Amino acid sequence: MIFGVHAMIWVSGWSVEEAQQAISAASRVGYGLIEIPLFDPENADTDSTTEILRKHNMSASISLGLSRENDISSQDLSKVQNGAKFLQKALSVCAEVGSDYLGGAIFSALRKYSSAASSEGRANSAGVIRELAQDASRAGITIGIEPTNRYENNLLNTAEAALRFADEVNEDNVCVHLDTFHMNIEEADPCSAIELCGDRLGYFHVNESHRGYLGAGNIEFSRYFRSLARIGYNKPIAFEAFSSSVTSEELGAMAGIWRDIWTDSDDIATHALSTMKLEYENATRAIGLARRGRLPTD
Ligand code: MN
Repeated sequence: MIFGVHAMIWVSGWSVEEAQQAISAASRVGYGLIEIPLFDPENADTDSTTEILRKHNMSASISLGLSRENDISSQDLSKVQNGAKFLQKALSVCAEVGSDYLGGAIFSALRKYSSAASSEGRANSAGVIRELAQDASRAGITIGIEPTNRYENNLLNTAEAALRFADEVNEDNVCVHLDTFHMNIEEADPCSAIELCGDRLGYFHVNESHRGYLGAGNIEFSRYFRSLARIGYNKPIAFEAFSSSVTSEELGAMAGIWRDIWTDSDDIATHALSTMKLEYENATRAIGLARRGRLPTD
């Protein structure tokens, strides 16, 4: 199992110094994968990132959220084109740093909308994601659709909605990316949501209900991990947490990060890794026992 961690545990941007800081810290804590928040792909120094990743023997994934100006779910075609260009640039960065994953809120802006998504906007978004996926496929890159809660986009809030959207895009390298923070808000039954995705689940964010320390909120992670074990999930599991002490102003505004909910980056990352490993191990054992008729599960 590949355990990853979002770079915003340590840094708010992706300068060479920040890349060095985040990658070395994630490696020191024991993670094998760093998730790079790519909000400024034009200025990413891909040579440096590649070199630092290599030095620490770390893999990378790329995540991002679109803004109002490059919202591909807009009915304004100039914004859709801006978004398509932005995503193409992000895809180039992804390929250049040797990452095989680009995902997140890439299908719309990451913000609270004041009206429902339009069918025209949805079609615009699906069209851009289809082209992006076709280009990504040639580079061996998977595109991940991460449904976020109702306050962070108006198009895809649940696993089922993301699956329907992926059906419309209809490219083999498009997967669903689930996040426990959003699922906790939107899914009637998070376990069914994971199982509904099955092998179309390609990336998983572990995130507490307040985006702080795992176990200090209200999410019952053991149930989520058992569902992951039940579907035989073997793709990345990445820890996310956001605190106003580290998060960039841009993402803070997008995701409503107003509280200084944690301050010690190494400590929260270390605690999360041991928690996720333990949850994964327990879940795998429980599902194995259940399959042999030794243990009832929910
Ligand atoms: Mn997430």
